[in-house]
Amino acid sequence: MKVYLDGTFVDKADAKISVFDHGLLYGDGIFEGIRLYKNCVFQLDAHLERLEFSARALLLKLPLSRQEMSDAVCESCRVNGLEDGYIRLVVTRGVGDLGLSPSTCPGPSVIIIADKITLYPPEIYTDGLAIITVPTRRMNPAALDPGIKSLNYLNNVLAKIEAAQHGALEAIMLNDHGYVAECTGDNLFIVSKGRVITPDPAAGALRGITRQVMFELAEKLGMPMEERNLTRYDVWNAEECFLTGTAAEVVPVVKVDGREIGDGRPGPVTQRFLDVFHERVSVDGTML
Ligand code: PMP
Repeated sequence: MKVYLDGTFVDKADAKISVFDHGLLYGDGIFEGIRLYKNCVFQLDAHLERLEFSARALLLKLPLSRQEMSDAVCESCRVNGLEDGYIRLVVTRGVGDLGLSPSTCPGPSVIIIADKITLYPPEIYTDGLAIITVPTRRMNPAALDPGIKSLNYLNNVLAKIEAAQHGALEAIMLNDHGYVAECTGDNLFIVSKGRVITPDPAAGALRGITRQVMFELAEKLGMPMEERNLTRYDVWNAEECFLTGTAAEVVPVVKVDGREIGDGRPGPVTQRFLDVFHERVSVDGTML
């Protein structure tokens, strides 16, 4: 496997960064997770826009233009002979001294890893997933906005550990006000009285690219979709619940905190979104 590292492709074993990189020392950096479906990079422009927004929020100047970044992503897939896979695009603050200040870092590093993807087990998509709510709250946007896809993922890592301690693969994280924010690595949707509802990004959710695609698909399906605050009570009493994410795609949720959702089976609306999502990824994307 070849990894893109600051403009050159290096062998996996040589793909190393300095111990003085502030991405390592402070989690100072940003990233994107992107999918390649049949030689097409899905939603590449949307991912690169979100990367630019994260960079702006952290006052991190990207060393590559949108086009250059896009070319580097596609080249990383070609070099590795990938037709389908997962691309991890990382921009670190770069090498500096041991102080916090990014002013000691002359320039960021760009890393692109294009590899095979490990999905949830296939039965999750047919039988659905059981999730729980974990005690760790999603970070307050006034401290570090969860909209910034930064390398500082400890908030999510802690929640993921708590989920695993209780045998769950994914978990709901609430915000400071007790409303549902999102899951540790996925956005959450419910279906209630014929409406599809997801928390507003202001509740502490990442503006997921897959989430955004759901809005477009809902319009196509003629399904009313809205963003609003959701409580756990709302989720427990929903007819359906599903998660979205680049790696996860669309995952039916059939149990939350021990309560069956609907009849405890993946629901028809979720199935419809899953089907149209798969149709969409097969016709859409930036060709390698
Ligand atoms: N929330 C979090 C915290 C995430 O890390 C991710 C990405 N894995 C998502 C939501 C889903 O976003 P996307 O659809 O862009 O992958």
